[in-house]
Amino acid sequence: METKKHKLSLLENSHAFMAEAASKALAARHNVQQWQFALLNLVQAVELSLKELLRREHHLLIFDNIDSPKNTISIKQALCRIENANILGLIIPEEEKRKIKHAVDIRNKITHFEFEVSEEFAMVKFSEIFAFLVYFQGRFLKVEVEDILPGDLLESVMEIEKCFTELRHKALKRIKEEGLSPDLAWRCLNCGEDTFIVEDGRNICFLCRKTEEVVECPQCGELCFEDDMESFLEDLDTDYDEGRTYIHNNYGYSEFKACPNCIDGIKADIEHQRVNDYYDFMEMQEWHRNR
Ligand SMILES: [Zn+2]
Ligand SMILES: [Zn+2]
Repeated sequence: METKKHKLSLLENSHAFMAEAASKALAARHNVQQWQFALLNLVQAVELSLKELLRREHHLLIFDNIDSPKNTISIKQALCRIENANILGLIIPEEEKRKIKHAVDIRNKITHFEFEVSEEFAMVKFSEIFAFLVYFQGRFLKVEVEDILPGDLLESVMEIEKCFTELRHKALKRIKEEGLSPDLAWRCLNCGEDTFIVEDGRNICFLCRKTEEVVECPQCGELCFEDDMESFLEDLDTDYDEGRTYIHNNYGYSEFKACPNCIDGIKADIEHQRVNDYYDFMEMQEWHRNR
């Protein structure tokens, strides 16, 4: 009889554990005990992610003995290999390594039933490691968090205040590391942080990962969120007939949309022109009367 085998790749597995960790963190809002499962799943996801990076370099690198590839390496060994200048030579900041190693210790305590779950402590640890994982997956494995977690799950996790702070910190780190300018980042329409990157046509928030349409304002040529563009069609002299709008006077404008910087000036200009036209008309009337 054929046995059903569902073999996931290291990468898919890391994503499955990450999603499971996130949903356990949400479940912990109603049941504090769930934090330990959130942490267990999360540390597992870290381990798999580190191994995936090594596997991409060479498939034997995930084994502790490459001459006899049976047992796979621990998180601590994986970190060493990733940092080894002869293997990957990546620099993982000391602070980051400390957090990961601490998370490994917590996992060991949990699995040996020595772990008392304090909500605050678990939340802080979860947030630190979760943000690291989002960063690591995106930066080194080239998989962004929106492709790992369903949108509503990510949104809910970001509502955990500590998690939001950690993710924000990592988002700013990535903006710098990818050679983008934090000064040119826009305020995101979704999360309200200055992490929306328009540079290089990316048009994505590095924090909440929401994308937005960015368009050029036809009036000033500056880039602007499409959602922020305003129509001034109704300020023109128009008639609406059988589903069509007829424009009698466009006051010298075309494409009747403008960015927030332009819109007030344009509305004022149209009004100004309208008043002037009216005075011209009155003068003309006067002239005809006096002839
Ligand atoms: Zn955002
Ligand atoms: Zn404009």
